[in-house]
This record gives sequence, C-alpha cells and structure tokens, in this order.
Amino acid sequence: MDTYLQRPRIVIVGGGFGGLEAARGLKDLPVSITVIDRQNHHCFQPLLYQVATAVLSPADIAWPIRGILRSQPNARVIMAEVTGIDAAAKIVHTDSIDLPYDYLVLATGATHSYFGHDEWEVDAPGLKRISDATELRRRLLIAFEQAELTEDGAKQRSLLTFVIVGAGPTGVEMAGAIAEVALQTLPPEFREVDPRSARIILIEAGPRVLPSFPENLSAYTRKSLEKMGVEVMTSTRVTKCDKAGVDIEGGRIDAHTVIWAAGVVASPAAKWLGAPADGAGRVEVLTDLSVPGHPNIFAVGDTAAVFYGDGKSVPGIAPAAKQMGRYVAKLITSSVLKTPKPAAFAYKHQGDLATIGHKIAVVKLPNPDFALKGFIGWLFWSLAHVYFLIGIRNRFVVAFTWMWQLITLQRGARIISAAPKGAHYTLEDDT
Ligand SMILES: Cc1cc2nc3c(=O)[nH]c(=O)nc-3n(C[C@H](O)[C@H](O)[C@H](O)COP(=O)(O)OP(=O)(O)OC[C@H]3O[C@@H](n4cnc5c(N)ncnc54)[C@H](O)[C@@H]3O)c2cc1C
Repeated sequence: MDTYLQRPRIVIVGGGFGGLEAARGLKDLPVSITVIDRQNHHCFQPLLYQVATAVLSPADIAWPIRGILRSQPNARVIMAEVTGIDAAAKIVHTDSIDLPYDYLVLATGATHSYFGHDEWEVDAPGLKRISDATELRRRLLIAFEQAELTEDGAKQRSLLTFVIVGAGPTGVEMAGAIAEVALQTLPPEFREVDPRSARIILIEAGPRVLPSFPENLSAYTRKSLEKMGVEVMTSTRVTKCDKAGVDIEGGRIDAHTVIWAAGVVASPAAKWLGAPADGAGRVEVLTDLSVPGHPNIFAVGDTAAVFYGDGKSVPGIAPAAKQMGRYVAKLITSSVLKTPKPAAFAYKHQGDLATIGHKIAVVKLPNPDFALKGFIGWLFWSLAHVYFLIGIRNRFVVAFTWMWQLITLQRGARIISAAPKGAHYTLEDDT
C-alpha cells in the first residue's frame, strides 16, 4: 500500500515562511506531508523592494520549494491553487486535484487591500510576489526611458513623478530606493532629461511615517527621506488612483507611476472554513492556533489573528509566521506521537527593522532602550537579512551586491521585461 495512505496525512497550504517552518518541524516524524503552493517558489518578501528597484534579481530572493524540501523524504510538493476546503470530509480542493488530510495547516499569507477599491490595483500595483516586483521595476525604468524621449514638459513631469501610497516599512523602503535610482544611479546615463528632477512623493493617511516604530525613529526616518529628496505627506488620504495619478483630499497629483503600500488583507482561509475572522480577514484562532471547532486544522502567519502580551495583535511579519509554523509542528508531533500537548502559543517579538536607503536604516529591538539608526542600523539590518536568506550562494550574492552598490552606487538588475498582454504603460502606448 502507498506510504502516503498508511501514515497520518498532513497537508500544508502555502510554502511561505509559516508553511515551510511547519514542514521542516515535522521532518523526523513518520507522516506524509504535502505542501501545496500556487507558486513553485518560496519568496523572501522583505527584499522584494530591492528587485522592484533593480538592485537584486528575482532568483536572489526566491527558491524552488521542491529544492528546499529535497532532503526531506516525508514531504512532497504540489503546485496548485487551493480553492476550498471540505472540513467534514477532510478534503482540500485545488484547481487540479483533491487532497485528503488528517491534519491541515493553512499558511496562505495575505495580499494588498485597496479598502474596497480593487479597481485601483491596475494603476497602483502593490508588492507581494516576484511578478509584482518585476512589473514595478518595468514601470519605474520605462518612466525614465519615456521621459528621455518626450519634449512635452507636462508629460515629462508626470513621467518623472512617483507616488508611493502608505508609509509603513515597504512604502518607506520603496520611496528611499526610488530616490536613489533617480538621484544617484541614473543621472550619468541620461542625456536629454535629468533624472534628478524626479519627484518622489510618499503619502501616508496617518500622522507619521513608520507608525509601528517609536516616534523618534519615525521623525528620524522622515528627516532622512526628505534629505534624500523624497516629499513626505502625512495626514493625507488618497481618495482615488487612476492611470494618470492620484486624487488626494483637496488636490491632485499627476504621476505616471503609483505604487500601493497601504494595506493588507488576509487570504480567504477563514471563508473556506466559515471560521470567525477579524476585520482584516484573518482567522481568529484559539491559543493553540487551531481553528475553532476544528482541532486538526491550524492557521499560521499572516492569515491568523493571534494576540500576545497585553492583548496586542501579533504583527504580520516573517518571524511571527515562522514561530507559529514551528509551534504547530510541535503540536502535530505531540498529537501523532501521543505525547503531552505543548503549552499555548506564546509569541516573542524580536524587533522592527526598516531601511531608508542603501546605507541608512532604523532598528528597534524589544529592550525598550535599544534602538539603532543610520549606518550602524543599516549594518544590523543587512546582517539580519543576509542571515535569514536561504542557501550560501544567495547570501554571498546578496552581500556582494550590496557591497558593490555601496561603493559604486550602481544597480545591476535594470532589466525591462516584456509587458504583460494588455498592460498599461508600454513604450508603444505612450510615445
Ligand atoms: C513587500 C513586503 C515586505 C515585507 N518586509 C518584511 C520585513 O522586512 N520583515 C518581516 O519580518 N516581514 C516583512 N514582510 C511580511 C512577511 O513577508 C510576511 O509576514 C510573511 O511572508 C508571512 O508569512 P506567511 O507564511 O504567513 O505567508 P507568505 O510568506 O505570504 O506565504 C504564503 C504562501 O501561500 C501561497 N498561497 C496563498 N494562497 C494560496 C492558495 N489559494 N493556494 C495555494 N497557495 C497559496 C502563496 O503563494 C505563498 O507562497 C513583508 C511583506 C511584504 C509583502
């Protein structure tokens, strides 16, 4: 009989941070694990903005899930999109096959939220997958190419205006990196247009940038961005995004490139189960991360609503997803081996990090007095990110690329890939 049918079947949906950590935590258990993901690769999302701004190449921050699990014989990988769950029959439905399970781990992450205006996505894409990053890179680089060709002043101004909506870590990182592209990398290479005339505008509805950081680090970040040439608008709400720019309360900004970094919504995992969900669509799990009424189904990472300390929500960050994945692996192990169940999940916050430019970052560690900023902060940020990459090759390539950029200010991954069919903003459309 097939071993898959003899052993307890564990299906893990999502090969992101939470799902992979759960799979690895079950490595030595006599079970049959199936990891399902709609993509064939695990993506290190914290460095996506560096692909979008032409520092790193996609393969520097993404790895085939099969490759990651190649030396784990109890795990197989299926590339498919999960479309629903029949919890009564214990079956996961995908767009290609149905998979029975004994234990189910939902680690399907989150995506951008346009606060009820999904129609904005086409003109103001967000950053979540590798394909988003290469699309943003295409729009960014094409804007400079078109600005070089046009003699129409208004059009050139719009082409060289880049609006980033949302000043959390991703928005801040994108704004700083685009400023560096415009002010440092490109100027020696253009003859007709001066890339330094670009406007990079970071818009935030709240009163300060990096709202999850202490106020002094927010203020430092704002000042650093402004020094780099970024216009920061706080307490400003975007009311509409379209092909030609954004409407803000009391005004309009014409911009060829708009990037959305303003909100996230969880995957539909809660809907698949009819489970209770919070305002962001995250499954409201129990303290052992199981879904209420389903002791063998767990939700981890960005798709789970979990609390810690004095009722704070566990943030949607990679270390949190990994901790949850690891915990669920322990819990399933105890259930399979019939050993005592671990205590309730307890999240340990390890800190908050954000880069502002290629040599400035802010870091806040949980010790209330420990914060870093500037170049020291950037060194800390760089070491932490290189450490968490998968594989020696990628660590080496990324560390070398950053050192090279530090010395030369160059960005090597400036490839304009073909536009998707029907895409906006192609050279042909606009010239
Ligand atoms: C641009 C950006 C920057 C970030 N920067 C940082 C940072 O600096 N530090 C930090 O700690 N965190 C950062 N994060 C957040 C961090 O990446 C997430 O918290 C983390 O990835 C969550 O892990 P997860 O396993 O819950 O989901 P993910 O890592 O998103 O994985 C979900 C997986 O599920 C798959 N999936 C989803 N739906 C389906 C389906 N229906 N069928 C099959 N497969 C499916 C997806 O393809 C994906 O592989 C950033 C996120 C983004 C988008």
